[in-house]
Amino acid sequence: MSLTEDIDLKDLVRTIPDYPKPGIMFRDITTLLGHANGLRACIERLVAPFTNRRIESVAGIEARGFILGGAVADRLRCGFVPIRKKGKLPAKAIGQEYELEYGIDIIEIHEDALKAGEPVLLVDDLIATGGTAAAAVKLLRKLNAEVVGAAFVIDLPDLGGCARLAKLGVECHTLMAFEGD
Ligand code: AMP
Repeated sequence: MSLTEDIDLKDLVRTIPDYPKPGIMFRDITTLLGHANGLRACIERLVAPFTNRRIESVAGIEARGFILGGAVADRLRCGFVPIRKKGKLPAKAIGQEYELEYGIDIIEIHEDALKAGEPVLLVDDLIATGGTAAAAVKLLRKLNAEVVGAAFVIDLPDLGGCARLAKLGVECHTLMAFEGD
């Protein structure tokens, strides 16, 4: 048996109650990222359903999606494309608005980051309402990329994010779920 096969990754996620505000159970993956075999198992499991799929780029959402997405891209032997908060990308970018609890935000991608028809895997650490991921899918589709799927370490199923991605026709792969929030 390999060193990573029997690791319970959920045990490596730290929960911080009432962060960043009262009532939120913050699922902190820094404890998982800091664990050598945990990190390796996490990346192995994120890529597992996609190893035989045609994927040419991995798109990661700022900021934890960069850490995971970079490693996933390396495993899949493809490139990495950052999706960032508005105003952070240096070259010409296109944006997509999405709703927050209060107000709106915008994420951006370089307009020349992907070719039309390019098969892309979306990666982030956690899917909650799916607002961020749905905006990322729309952004990738504005570049006419083909979104092959989306991979997250953590699902908060009660908030309906994966169901929201399914409605957009995107297959959602997650490694663990925290029910109830
Ligand atoms: P959403 O757009 O609602 O799916 O939120 C997803 C984004 O917010 C991800 O980039 C997460 O990193 C972050 N996020 C939302 N809820 C939590 C939580 N309970 N713990 C940690 N991060 C969260």
